[in-house]
Amino acid sequence: MNTIDMYTSLGITKEVYDFCDTLWNSLKERFDEIDKVSEYNQLKVLHALQKHHVSEACMLGTTGYGYNDAGRDTLEEVYASVFHTEDALVRPQITCGTHALALALMSNLRPGDELLSPVGKPYDTLEEVIGIRPSKGSLAEYGVTYSQVDLLPNGDFDYENIQKAINEKTKLVTIQRSKGYATRPTLSVSRIGELITFIKQIKPDIICMVDNCYGEFVETIEPSDVGADMVVGSLIKNPGGGLAPIGGYIAGKKECIENAAYRLTSPGLGKEVGASLGVLNSFYEGLFLAPNVTANALKGAIFAANIYEKFGFDVIPNSTESRHDIIQAVAFHKPEALIAFCEGIQAAAPVDSYVTPEPWAMPGYDSDVIMAAGAFVSGSSIELSADGPLKAPYAAYFQGGLTWQHAKFGIMKSFQSLLDKGIIHSEQLKTALKNCL
Ligand SMILES: *Cc1c(COP(=O)(O)O)cnc(C)c1O
Repeated sequence: MNTIDMYTSLGITKEVYDFCDTLWNSLKERFDEIDKVSEYNQLKVLHALQKHHVSEACMLGTTGYGYNDAGRDTLEEVYASVFHTEDALVRPQITCGTHALALALMSNLRPGDELLSPVGKPYDTLEEVIGIRPSKGSLAEYGVTYSQVDLLPNGDFDYENIQKAINEKTKLVTIQRSKGYATRPTLSVSRIGELITFIKQIKPDIICMVDNCYGEFVETIEPSDVGADMVVGSLIKNPGGGLAPIGGYIAGKKECIENAAYRLTSPGLGKEVGASLGVLNSFYEGLFLAPNVTANALKGAIFAANIYEKFGFDVIPNSTESRHDIIQAVAFHKPEALIAFCEGIQAAAPVDSYVTPEPWAMPGYDSDVIMAAGAFVSGSSIELSADGPLKAPYAAYFQGGLTWQHAKFGIMKSFQSLLDKGIIHSEQLKTALKNCL
């Protein structure tokens, strides 16, 4: 059996295969650049593992209080080395990305302080953490105020209004690297650096925190290399490499991490407690694989942008733009196209491939949402996944792919699904193939 037959047996027609494979051949230079970044990051991670003498014993976990958990403490040193920070908190007790961000904020802000977002509205789930949408236990409830400066219409920082917004109460600035579900461009690490430099010139003691979700290992430097006092993220995204079954991290200044540890466990206990149970092996191995897994996901995102742009859909980022996170948005402008796309992604999954995703009224959203996910780790979005709200512009947000081969197959399945449903016509496909050759 050859590869084409294998694709056929998995529901991909010869025309779809030919088009996708031809297109892929045109992307090889782009893929080489991604491989260079992942080569550098692989060495960066390996260097950190070796420097801290990670040993077989580090893979073992502790139970109960978790005193003297050498594997956990060494892993935190490894993270601090990878991000070039003084310290890090990397724990299974941090339940998700939102929790890691809430922890970093709540532990470093005190009543009377002000939090500033100079890059517009933060990620949806942070609205309740901050109290933009009222919630029990929000920062607002504890007397922490919030101010926000939006990006300018062209995507630039609004330096004038950022300067005006900084006052004697401003204690912490939160900068979201990825666009999340917004349509603004994702920030490059160097742009984040410019913003931090500007802020620190006005008020040097402001804590600059970066929501690093989906950005880790996309570039050779991280926001902590350009002045961020804390970088924060989820282990079921890039840095967990697909293997971490849970967890979050905060890497940064010693004092910031100490505050976070005292809040996560208890004043006085801090980092000393917190059993790692059986997860350390997956945290170490996941971090080791993370540069490569991130590269695979990036290739998938670029491949998808190039395919869907050829058929006239709006893709954000577009087919040639530089990448600073692993998210790809495709605006279909038709509900049936969004649904067909997600069905294709689901049908490509290694787990739950036989189920059909249905739009549903997810808590916290103002319209039905469709989600495609067939992951080894529930909800993991470094694994191939897609979702989108059933409202204009009917955009699918697509990310992940533990292997490039699987990301490629998933996108081919999504494309086949649009073709089978008559949303894309075979005449269009023929023309597109001709234009590629
Ligand atoms: C995913 C994400 C979060 C929240 O992480 P969860 O693990 O879903 O709670 C926060 N910010 C950004 C930019 C994200 O992508």
